[in-house]
Amino acid sequence: MIDPATDAAFMRRALDLAWRGWGRVHPNPLVGAVVARDGEVVGEGYHAEYGGPHAEVAALAAAGERARGATLYVTLEPCAHQGKTPPCTLAIEAAGIRRVVYGAEDPNPEARGGAERLRSQGVEVTGGVEREAVRAQLIDEQIRVAGGVNRALEIGVVDDVLKPTETRRRIAEALANAPAARGAHGNIPL
Ligand SMILES: [Zn+2]
Repeated sequence: MIDPATDAAFMRRALDLAWRGWGRVHPNPLVGAVVARDGEVVGEGYHAEYGGPHAEVAALAAAGERARGATLYVTLEPCAHQGKTPPCTLAIEAAGIRRVVYGAEDPNPEARGGAERLRSQGVEVTGGVEREAVRAQLIDEQIRVAGGVNRALEIGVVDDVLKPTETRRRIAEALANAPAARGAHGNIPL
């Protein structure tokens, strides 16, 4: 009973939630998450503070026991590595989530591998739902942060991500206003 329109709707809700972390999670990305079962939201969360719980963990905590057998929607692929907090994949498994839907891969290569890990544990995983919108949000975040263009170039999402014309235009404008960034990082194909 996987319905792409339902998946997209919950992912857009997760994207909205992600913005609530704006200004407090940098240099980590904005991330939002929703736990849903039978078409209803039973928990919501977002990455609220740099070094604090990840969005998935916050949403699972809000859902409590209702997370068992539910679907978790998260804008970025859940992390499988020990960072400032334990891997989200462990929390997802412990909560008894049946299916995970994510939008885009984490721009940090160290954080990737969550989908593979979850599948190996019998969790159904769907990636790439509203991927362009998630990527646009990540870029938007980086541009909004002071010196954000540098950061966007540093973490290397720029080449990969900037397909939407509007976003490319904005990056081009930002670069034009920050010649030092261009000089420091070479020519970026826009
Ligand atoms: Zn995580």
